[in-house]
Amino acid sequence: MAELAKNFIGGEWVEARSGETFNSINPATEEVVAVVVRSGVEDVNAAVQAAKEAYKSWRLLPAPRRGEILYRVGQLLIERKEELARLMVQEMGKVIAEARGDVQEAIDMAFYMGGEGRRLLGYTAPVEMPNKFGMALRDSVGVVGLITPWNFPIAIPSWKSLPALIAGNTVIFKPASDTPKLGAEFVRVFQDAGLPPGVLNIILGPGGSVGNALATHPDVRVISFTGSTEVGYRMYAQAAQIGKKVSLELGGKNAIIVMDDANLDLAVEAILWSAFGTTGQRCTAASRVIVQKGIKPRLVDMLRERTQALKLGYGLEEDVQVGPVVSRSAREGIHKYVEIGKHEGATLLTGGAFADPLDGKGFFYQPTLFDHVTPTMRIAREEIFGPVLSIIEAASLDEAVEINNQVAYGLSSSIFTENVNAAFRAIRDLTTGIVYINHGTTGAEIQFPFGGTRGTGNGMREAGQTALDSFTEWKAVYVDFSGRLQRAQIDTETILKGQE
Ligand code: NAD
Repeated sequence: MAELAKNFIGGEWVEARSGETFNSINPATEEVVAVVVRSGVEDVNAAVQAAKEAYKSWRLLPAPRRGEILYRVGQLLIERKEELARLMVQEMGKVIAEARGDVQEAIDMAFYMGGEGRRLLGYTAPVEMPNKFGMALRDSVGVVGLITPWNFPIAIPSWKSLPALIAGNTVIFKPASDTPKLGAEFVRVFQDAGLPPGVLNIILGPGGSVGNALATHPDVRVISFTGSTEVGYRMYAQAAQIGKKVSLELGGKNAIIVMDDANLDLAVEAILWSAFGTTGQRCTAASRVIVQKGIKPRLVDMLRERTQALKLGYGLEEDVQVGPVVSRSAREGIHKYVEIGKHEGATLLTGGAFADPLDGKGFFYQPTLFDHVTPTMRIAREEIFGPVLSIIEAASLDEAVEINNQVAYGLSSSIFTENVNAAFRAIRDLTTGIVYINHGTTGAEIQFPFGGTRGTGNGMREAGQTALDSFTEWKAVYVDFSGRLQRAQIDTETILKGQE
């Protein structure tokens, strides 16, 4: 019998009020990884109460002291990196090297945000009146809710929880239903690092009940959500009705542009990694290659050959390059898009069917390439979130940029060219939140803003200094030490006269 994964509320591991459970399944072997408590509204309410109580003292703990706890979190993540990475392969299927990278992002973020404990920079500026001082401070918000997807089950919760905590907020974390055990083990690291009870709570269960209860709870002042555009925008509309601040990181339809003068070998490597890494289930996965006419025949040949050679299997084996997709239903959804592509008239170059490297077990899908895709086809516009790559031809840089920019999403884009002028024009004209030159569409680092334009979000960014924006309010402070009433914008003339 697999171990029971529980909620963590007010510093205690507890079962759900309902007494019900569900199973977390290994998508490669179909074995049960964990039995998980199925929580509901009452559990969310209890966590909000615990977080409200803990906020009273956590906000007053000096930020450098909060930072010391985050450093210990970073250290424990280093010690548990392999253990967490192996659990990740088992719970959601990505291959072990990528799982280690996922935990490494959290380690990087823990030390980066730990350091923020000695910054959390505000600013001062000159003021209009004599004997008066002005400054702007970042203030904590209160109880914040974090709702995360399964595809980066340690990295994404770290992008949210660490900035939220360093800023002095208390947190309720709801991980995806496909990765509850990883969510619980992530929280255990904070417990073991000495985070006080109630400061970070986790509630396990379905999005429709737990996520919705968090999003609509009046005492949860911020929701930071990463997931699908459909769920995110629905939740955003609900939250707006009670004036809740919402940060959204949503879907992508990322493209790699390959110009005639590109380093072809490099472009092929990057495309394979970006399209089929994490089995195409990254918000930044390349699902379109926009290629200039001249180089296209060679690129297509090389991509087909290399795609067919990718090794599928169980991600715990070090030489496996592509793991399963996360669930049976995800695989069906991907296959539907392949059928749509065929009906739309795209040419299936390779793949397009279920794969079976583990003899009847697991949710595997063949890495799939479509050629002769036009920008208006659904497979060129909609997020597939699987190992399916569409090749689109463009005559010029301008046309390639236009094709890139015309989709409903705007997360990341990339261009391969040896021409510095073309690279800078692309930097100027590509309308995505992240732009890569001679690099695939994946590989963001935690010290820069992460997020996208259009349907990818609502203008917020994670990581970097911008991570603090979701979890802080600005407080402007004026200190008048003149001993008399000085009216800003009104008494300026008196001051000037006084100078004469
Ligand atoms: P999802 O939208 O199905 O679920 C995301 C989270 O929302 C889960 O925790 C889920 O339980 C919860 N949820 C579901 N219904 C809810 C509701 N009614 N109210 C509140 N919460 C609810 O997404 P997913 O399948 O887990 O993840 C894949 C999606 O995430 C893709 O679209 C991908 O592009 C996106 N993603 C975006 C980024 C980014 O930074 N832009 C990063 C990773 C993944």
